[in-house]
Amino acid sequence: CVTSDPQSAINDFCSLAAMRRELRLRRTAALLRTKRIVGMTVTGASIQRDILRLVRPSLLVVEEAAEVGEPQLLACLSPSVQHLVLIGDHKQLRPPTESHRLARYFDLDVSMFERLINNGISYDQLALQNRMRPELSQFLRDIYPGLKDNLPVVTKHQATPCVAKSAFFWDHSEPETGDRSYINKEEAERCVALALFLISQGVAPSRITILAAYRSQTALISQLVRQRAEQHQHLFPEYFANRAKAGGSAGAAAAGEAEEADDEAVESRGPPILAHTVDVYQGDENDFVIVSLVRSNEECTVGFLKEVSRRCVAQSRARCGFWLIGNADCLTKEVGHWRTLLKSMREAGCVGKQLPLRCVLHPAETQLEASDAASVPAVGAKFCTLNCDMMMECGLHRCPLPCQPRHSHDRCAVRSEVTLPDCGHRAAKLCHQSLEELRCCTMVDFAFEACGHPGRKECWQPEGQLQCLRPCDRDLPGCGHRCQLLCWERCAPESCAQCRADEAARNAELQARRQAAQDEARREAKVELEAIKKQMDGCVKRLELTRDGESASEFLDVEDRVLKYIRAEHSWYPTVNRVEKVLNASLKRKFLSYKSALMFEPDRCELKFHGTSAEGVEGIITSGFRLPEKAGMYGAGIYFASDSSKSAREIYTKGSNMLMLCEVLLGRSLTVLGATKDTYNFKRMRQEKYDSLFAPRNSRATNGVMNDEFVVFEPAQAYPKYIVHYSCVDGSAALKGLPTVLAEGVTRINRPQRHEVDQNNPLFVYWSLVNSRFLSGLTTHGITVTQVQVNQNSDLLAKFEARRLKAGAAAKAPYGFTWAADQREAESVMKSGFSPAAVSGLKFTQLPDLQQMRAAVGGRLALLCKLLPSRHAGSGDPGAPWSIDSPDCAYPRYAIHFSMAG
Ligand SMILES: [Zn+2]
Ligand SMILES: [Zn+2]
Ligand SMILES: [Zn+2]
Ligand SMILES: [Zn+2]
Ligand SMILES: [Zn+2]
Ligand SMILES: [Zn+2]
Ligand SMILES: [Zn+2]
Repeated sequence: CVTSDPQSAINDFCSLAAMRRELRLRRTAALLRTKRIVGMTVTGASIQRDILRLVRPSLLVVEEAAEVGEPQLLACLSPSVQHLVLIGDHKQLRPPTESHRLARYFDLDVSMFERLINNGISYDQLALQNRMRPELSQFLRDIYPGLKDNLPVVTKHQATPCVAKSAFFWDHSEPETGDRSYINKEEAERCVALALFLISQGVAPSRITILAAYRSQTALISQLVRQRAEQHQHLFPEYFANRAKAGGSAGAAAAGEAEEADDEAVESRGPPILAHTVDVYQGDENDFVIVSLVRSNEECTVGFLKEVSRRCVAQSRARCGFWLIGNADCLTKEVGHWRTLLKSMREAGCVGKQLPLRCVLHPAETQLEASDAASVPAVGAKFCTLNCDMMMECGLHRCPLPCQPRHSHDRCAVRSEVTLPDCGHRAAKLCHQSLEELRCCTMVDFAFEACGHPGRKECWQPEGQLQCLRPCDRDLPGCGHRCQLLCWERCAPESCAQCRADEAARNAELQARRQAAQDEARREAKVELEAIKKQMDGCVKRLELTRDGESASEFLDVEDRVLKYIRAEHSWYPTVNRVEKVLNASLKRKFLSYKSALMFEPDRCELKFHGTSAEGVEGIITSGFRLPEKAGMYGAGIYFASDSSKSAREIYTKGSNMLMLCEVLLGRSLTVLGATKDTYNFKRMRQEKYDSLFAPRNSRATNGVMNDEFVVFEPAQAYPKYIVHYSCVDGSAALKGLPTVLAEGVTRINRPQRHEVDQNNPLFVYWSLVNSRFLSGLTTHGITVTQVQVNQNSDLLAKFEARRLKAGAAAKAPYGFTWAADQREAESVMKSGFSPAAVSGLKFTQLPDLQQMRAAVGGRLALLCKLLPSRHAGSGDPGAPWSIDSPDCAYPRYAIHFSMAG
């Protein structure tokens, strides 16, 4: 709720807070009341007296009650307490007061415990002490006159032989320094030197406490202890292990927890040796206690050492050994209880300027009287020169080492010869070793299981883990070379070192040859370049090649290339009419200098087709190829084909009836199987070290060359060498009305001369179709058709058509090639059909097969027949020949005469 008056809101808040406090108090008290014993510190109890009031305890037990100030104790006494039990020692230190005056003038340092005793209340006193060895407790008789030792308990506490006296007052007259809190440097050094001596003689650091009368002295001692511990880390293994662990975990802890982890680490590891003021150590105990009394001055002022209770505390902390370091004269001059103590100690021979130190193992033989810190044997100093001679843990042998440095006796190194139970060999054994952990190192012979070769091993080694390291030396299957592996390695013909070396040599040679070929190509290009610089002037020339005369062979080569690289699916039946050779010195120079300088593989230069419009042809021969602006299927390059019929397609030529046959520097080709669009350009090709892009259009084709497409991205890589002028007929349309023009019987059509070419002459159409059909199927160059004979034989045709009707309307009738030995045989077949006797041996092929012809007849006459084959093409291997069942299944339509160059 909201109230407009701030004062009343504050009042409300305060009363609510008080109510909340009260409720929490009640809840805690209710919980505590269910417990039988509640433990608290006196301070805690006086702060929480509200709770005590609610818990209402009837019995109160106070421990160390002589150290509790009366006002504090009164605060803990609630009205419910019916029984108060105080346990303590009023001979020891009194409760501290805030100021000295409170104690001096108002006795506020007198505990209720002490006051009640002083006032004669009855009390019980401990009769037996359980802490100190008797030689320690005897010097407390002036304080506790009736105290007896509980001998069965206290004699179990072992004194150390390192110090001849387990209670000793090490007297000196080194002066103190300081005015309010005093220090005594020599004493601090003595304390630490004595502690280190004890530790190096085998006493655990945790069993030693150093007490000092003044806080400054304690600080000095702690500092010395840390310094020495760093110097002698091996004496404090536990301390440094803890520190490393705590350091590691503190480092790993998250930033927020780091502080906590650090505190914990400090807590867990403590100092290397405990050092405290006497007052703080009240109530605690340890095995060995070294006390620095500090005070040493000419005035013999001893400050609060005057109080017997402080001496009492200092003197009663040790169980096994107790050494006081101080100035005896200074202490005894004014203070009676110190005189009493020193007197009794002196009588027992336990006071001296020299501390009697001994070797822990040889106390009788070594006697060292330390007169100051410097004469206490330093860590590592060999003050005992005797042999150790302790019994080893085996119980059979004595330790052969020198007494110092200290060492353990658990691994007895005495050697003996034993017989091993498993193999019977003799072996050397150290006393602490068991027979089971011995490895028999005797060398033994054995045979490898896999190869039977002899081997040598140490007796203990399992045979299965060893490998025969002899050279294998077997002859390898496959290549017959000597195996160069080791015996255990598996012979593998594919890893034959000799074969690999041979192959590497072959590859290197091949590489060298390729390199040489390329160097040669470059050199030739340079030579040619030099030559044309002189030969050709700047203008473009077009040289007409002719079918006869000097240029005939070049003409025929070009024509041959056009007619041979026709793909059936393009249905293109051309006749080459003219061939022009282009001479453009400037383009040729660019081409040659590119070839000689920039090609990765300059030795691969091929003639390829390029189809373009009439203007395109003019542009190219005048100023060379140009890169297109738009990227095609394989990028913005210049495209070339191996197939004339592809370049001649209408989309490229646009009716020009011209083809360009170009020299193209293909060089090193990058084969790409799919469209690459913009991926490649000139820069990228150079980066990847390719000269051209190669796209095989139909990977299933057996003759890959007929399917290719090539792309170059540098115009200088192509030189337009020839312009081919052709004419062609649309085969299917042209033939439609033709048969009627042919007379019955054989019509002979000779190869037309150039001036005889007539697109409208049906005979020329026949010639053109058969000519290109025959040449396009050949894989050999240099063949010229000289005459085509067309057979019009109604009788044979009727028989063939009747047969075809029987086979069904859908039956296909492809054309197939076969061969005739000579003109007579050809005429006979064309007149009367194949003889029934020859039918079974007849083979027809889709493409003319010159090899078959040579093997079969050696003649130069091909027959192209219409067929009803018994095994139909298109199933299985397309190149497999057809056969026929009857003479009626083949109609011999054409005979082809041809000549071969050379
Ligand atoms: Zn010794
Ligand atoms: Zn030893
Ligand atoms: Zn032994
Ligand atoms: Zn053995
Ligand atoms: Zn072997
Ligand atoms: Zn081998
Ligand atoms: Zn080989």
